[in-house]
Amino acid sequence: MDKMKVLAEWSYTPAKIDKGYTRKTLYVNVGEPRMEIRDVTQDMIDTFTGGRGFDLKLLWDAVKDTTKWNDPENEIVISGGPLCGITQYPGAGKSYAAFISPLSGQTYDSNSGGYWGPLTKFSGFDAVEIQGKADKDVILYINGDEGKIQILESNQPDINAYTITENLHEYFATSEADKRSISVVSAGKAAETSYYGCMNMSFYDPRRKVTRLKQAGRGGGGSIMRDKKIAAMVVKFSKMGGNENNAVDLDTLQKVGVKLHKEIHDLDDSQCKMRKIGTAHLNEIMDEYNLLPTNNYKFGQNTAEIAKIHSSEYEKLFTQGMPDGCWYGCSMACAKAVDGFTIKTGPCKGQKVTVDGPEYETVASLGSNIGVYDPLWTIEANFYADHYGVDTISLGTGIAFVCECFELGLINKTDTNGLDLNFGMKDDIMELIHRMAVGTDEFAAIVAKGIRYMKKAFAEKYKADAAKMEAIGMEGQGVETSEYVPKESIAQWGGYYLTLKGPQHDEAWLIFMDMVNKQLPTYEDKAEALHYFPNFRTWFSLVGLCKLPWNDVEPANNRIVNPPKEAAKVPEHVQNYVDIFNAVTGKAIKKEDIITMSEKVYNFQRVFQVRMKQGNAFHNIPLRALGPVFADEWDARKDYYDGKLKEIGVEPAGLSTETKIQKLQEYRLGMWDGLKTAVYKRRGWNKKGIPTVETLKRLGIDYPEVVAVVEKYSKPEDVIA
Ligand code: SF4
Repeated sequence: MDKMKVLAEWSYTPAKIDKGYTRKTLYVNVGEPRMEIRDVTQDMIDTFTGGRGFDLKLLWDAVKDTTKWNDPENEIVISGGPLCGITQYPGAGKSYAAFISPLSGQTYDSNSGGYWGPLTKFSGFDAVEIQGKADKDVILYINGDEGKIQILESNQPDINAYTITENLHEYFATSEADKRSISVVSAGKAAETSYYGCMNMSFYDPRRKVTRLKQAGRGGGGSIMRDKKIAAMVVKFSKMGGNENNAVDLDTLQKVGVKLHKEIHDLDDSQCKMRKIGTAHLNEIMDEYNLLPTNNYKFGQNTAEIAKIHSSEYEKLFTQGMPDGCWYGCSMACAKAVDGFTIKTGPCKGQKVTVDGPEYETVASLGSNIGVYDPLWTIEANFYADHYGVDTISLGTGIAFVCECFELGLINKTDTNGLDLNFGMKDDIMELIHRMAVGTDEFAAIVAKGIRYMKKAFAEKYKADAAKMEAIGMEGQGVETSEYVPKESIAQWGGYYLTLKGPQHDEAWLIFMDMVNKQLPTYEDKAEALHYFPNFRTWFSLVGLCKLPWNDVEPANNRIVNPPKEAAKVPEHVQNYVDIFNAVTGKAIKKEDIITMSEKVYNFQRVFQVRMKQGNAFHNIPLRALGPVFADEWDARKDYYDGKLKEIGVEPAGLSTETKIQKLQEYRLGMWDGLKTAVYKRRGWNKKGIPTVETLKRLGIDYPEVVAVVEKYSKPEDVIA
C-alpha cells in the first residue's frame, strides 16, 4: 500500500504505568491540528476513578452548554480505567467512549472490547480525547513503541470497517505477529448518514488470521467520527509484558484470576455456555418467558418460529474450539464468530468472510423483532451493520418501528421508494440497509437517524398518525430500546427508561428478579434495586472491566449460601472485584465503596445531562413499554391480561378490548409515576430527576460549576418530601 502523507506529527515520551494509571491523557484536535499531553490530577482519580469517569470529566471541560453533536468542540473521549489491560483476570480489556450523542443531544457512554483500551494505556495514556473537525479524511496514529503521534491523510478508498481495519493492520504491522500489536477504531459509510453510527474496535486473531471487530455500538460515536472526517484511529504497542499495569500485588491478582478461570472451566458448560454460544444462549430463554421482542415488541414469543433461531442453531454456525477472548486472559471467551461465511448481497457479495457475532441483542433486533427467523440472514445483516458502521440494536429496533408503521399503513411503498417493508420481508429490509450506506436514498436516510427523528419526519412528510407512532416508537431519550420486552416488569421500566442515557441493557436488568422471581414487591424494593444495580454496573465502566464474567458464570454454591436477593449480586465475585482493584491500585476499598465510587460519576453524568438539555432531561416511556396498545396484542395473551385487570379491581367481562387496554394503560401510567418518584427519592434527586445539592455534597462532587447547574434548574417545590 502507498505511504500515507503525514499532515502533522509530534513526539512524546510515553509515561510509565504505576498502579494502573499513567496519569497522562492525550488531547488531539484533528482540525487545527494540535496535540497536548495533559496531567491527571489526584482529585480526578479520587472523584472519577477512570474510564467513563475520566471521559465525562474531560468532556464536561471541553463542551459548552449549547454544544451539539456535530459542533467541532464535541469530543470523542475513550478511556480504559485502572484495571484495563490486566491479563490475569477475565474480561479486563474494555474501554469506554463518551460524547454528546446525535440521538439524544446529551452525553452517551458506550463500551467495547478489542485491544484499543489496553494498547493506548500501554502507550502512555489514561484517556484519549479527540476534538475538532478535519477538512478531509484523516487517520490518527498513536505509535506507543516510538512515542509518536501522527495525523495522516487517509489513502483508504473504502472506509467500511472490515476493509479499512484489515488494511490498516497490514499497513502498520512489520510482520504477521506484529498485527497483534495494533488496534484500529473505525466506523463506516452508513455512519455518515446515520445518527447511530458505531465505533468498531479491533484486535487481530492469529488463529483465524483475520482482524476481529468489537463495537462501542450505541449512541452514535461512529457518526461523530465521520462528522470529524476521521476514517480511523490506530494505536500500536508491541512491547507488552506480564505486569504492564505495574500492579502492587501481583500474587493476589493471579490467585483471584485463577479462581475465576477454574469456575469458568468447570461451570460454564452447565450454566450459560458462553464459550460455545456467547450471549445467544438467551434466545429461547427469552422466548419462553415472553420477553423476546417480536414484531416491534408487540409480542414476546413466537412458538412457531423460535426453533429456527434456537441457540443450538447458532452453535452449529459458530466456529467451536477456538479461544474467543476479546482481550488476553479472558477464558470466558464469548466473542463468537462465524467463519467462512459467504456474503449473498451488496458490495461484498460472493466474498467469504469471518463475521463477529451475532450476539443475543442482534439475534433479536435483526431477527425476531423484525419478523425474520433466518440465522444466515441475521449473520449477513450483522456483518453489514458492523461493516457500514451502525449499531445493530438501534438499526433493528428502528427497522421494527418502520415495519409496524408499514403494516399499519402509516407509510407505504411510495414513501419507501419501492420497498415492501412488512415484517419478515428480508430481501427488502437488506436493501434498505444497503441504501443507508449509499446515502442517496431519502427514505433510508430518515430511517438511519433513529425513531425519534422518524416519528417527526413520517408525520411531516407522509402525514403518518403521530399518536400511533408515539405509542409504538420504542425509544427513550431519543435512543432505541434494546432487546427485552419490558411490558411486564415494572422494575425493568426503570432499568430501561429511568437511565442516564436512554434504554440499553447496561444499567439494570431486573426482569427476572422482578417478574419471574417476585423479589421486588414494593416501589421501595424496586427503587433500591434501581439504585444498587445501575451503580454497581457503572463501576465496571470506571475501571475497564467487562460485566459478563460478573454474573454469566456463578460460583457453584452462590444460590445455596446466599439468600435469593443477595445471590443476584453474586457476592463472591463482588469480593473478587474489590480484591483485584486493591491488588492493582494499592488502595484498600471495601464492597460498599464500589457503590460510592460509581455514585459520584453517575450523579455527575446526570447533572451533565441536565446541563446539556437545559433542565429538560426528562425520562419518557413509550406506551408499548407499559403494556399492549392494540387489540391483537392484548388478544395474544388474553387470559393473562384479563387477569391483570382483575388484579387491579377491573372486571374485564363485557368490556371491549380497546377499553381494557385503556384501563390497564391508565393504571400503569400511574405506576410509572410511582416508580419514578421512588427511584428519584432513593437516588437523592428531586421531582425532575435532578440530583440535589445535598446529594452532590454527600458524594464530594459539589464543584461550583456542577452546583450551579443544579441550582439553575431546580426549584424549592421540586423537592421530594
Ligand atoms: S466475556 Fe466476552 S465480551 Fe467480555 S471480555 Fe471476555 S470475550 Fe470479551
